[in-house]
Amino acid sequence: MPNKTPITVAHGDGIGPEIMAATLRILEAAEAQIAPEVIEVGEKVYLGGNTSGIAAESWASLRRTKVFLKGPITTPQGGGYKSLNVTIRKTLGLFANVRPCVAYAPAVATRHPTMDVVIVRENEEDLYAGIEHRQTDEVFQCLKLITRPGCEKIVRHAFEYARANGRKKVTCMTKDNIMKMTDGLFHKVFDEIKAEYPEIATEHQIIDIGTARLATQPERYDVIVTPNLYGDIISDVAAELTGSVGLAPSANIGEHVAMFEAIHGSAPDIAGQGIANPSGLLLSAVMMLVHIRQSEVATRVHNAWLRTLEDGWVTADLTPSADGRVVGTEAFADAVIARL
Ligand code: NAD
Repeated sequence: MPNKTPITVAHGDGIGPEIMAATLRILEAAEAQIAPEVIEVGEKVYLGGNTSGIAAESWASLRRTKVFLKGPITTPQGGGYKSLNVTIRKTLGLFANVRPCVAYAPAVATRHPTMDVVIVRENEEDLYAGIEHRQTDEVFQCLKLITRPGCEKIVRHAFEYARANGRKKVTCMTKDNIMKMTDGLFHKVFDEIKAEYPEIATEHQIIDIGTARLATQPERYDVIVTPNLYGDIISDVAAELTGSVGLAPSANIGEHVAMFEAIHGSAPDIAGQGIANPSGLLLSAVMMLVHIRQSEVATRVHNAWLRTLEDGWVTADLTPSADGRVVGTEAFADAVIARL
């Protein structure tokens, strides 16, 4: 019996418990060699009076296992407690957020059947550094923080990812025509580092026209590297273009710890109905299995999931093919398990 790799698991809020239960069931059926340590994060912890949304012993679990499979967390908009997602990324130094957005046509209807874009988003800096001030009752300020070490780490990560995965082109997107110092630094570092990767084509686009082209011609992109806020926005755009935001996974990579989660949120509008798509979280778990060197199980799960889609099984967020059928979260998981 091989040793099981300890991982930390948080079910999260909203649809989190439903999609996590489905994902863990599939991993168990696939005989993934993992030993989950379950921690509580998010709403329940806040309601218990802990305003950080995560208990001290949970940090200890994360530092021990160094691998985190996380469900989505609800964060109040415009006020209330600080985003735990941002706290986790910053505390654990998860500097790179890797978000593959891939079309699965014809199983999943999309106008862009050949798109296969990986967005590499800087994950700790930019306007997400959490530095906001009230100047007067009518004026508020948010500081955009961009550092050279931060730019170097994320740009190099994007090129290393491209090289390791046989990708041909890296596009950098910034707004350095306006933010000449902050975004200017990101672009400058990109231009410096690209020289180390002569086999990879490169280009730079201003984020506004870049987003417009991504929305209309996503197939012309391969890897995109961009600061935090832009990456957050364009990865939702790209995921929707593949068919649903519910499909896209992500890896959050640090020097010591890695966290895997779907790119979508807690979807309170459909929570508790058993209809959420578990695919984003399941594909995040596949990325996690590769990370912990269980590539064989990862491939088995991925193939079973692909066959499920090819056989016409989809959740309600996707458009079924002519002879396809729409099923709930649990039935979708059963269909994946039947194809392992
Ligand atoms: P959302 O991603 O939760 O939902 C947007 C839309 O997509 C909704 O209509 C939802 O029903 C649908 N959707 C999302 N995931 C789906 C899935 N797996 N299957 C089927 N449909 C799905 O975005 P939101 O409504 O803006 O945010 C809700 C909450 O989630 C907020 O509190 C937000 O802060 C939080 N959030 C958390 C994370 C995270 O934990 N990483 C990420 C984004 C948003």
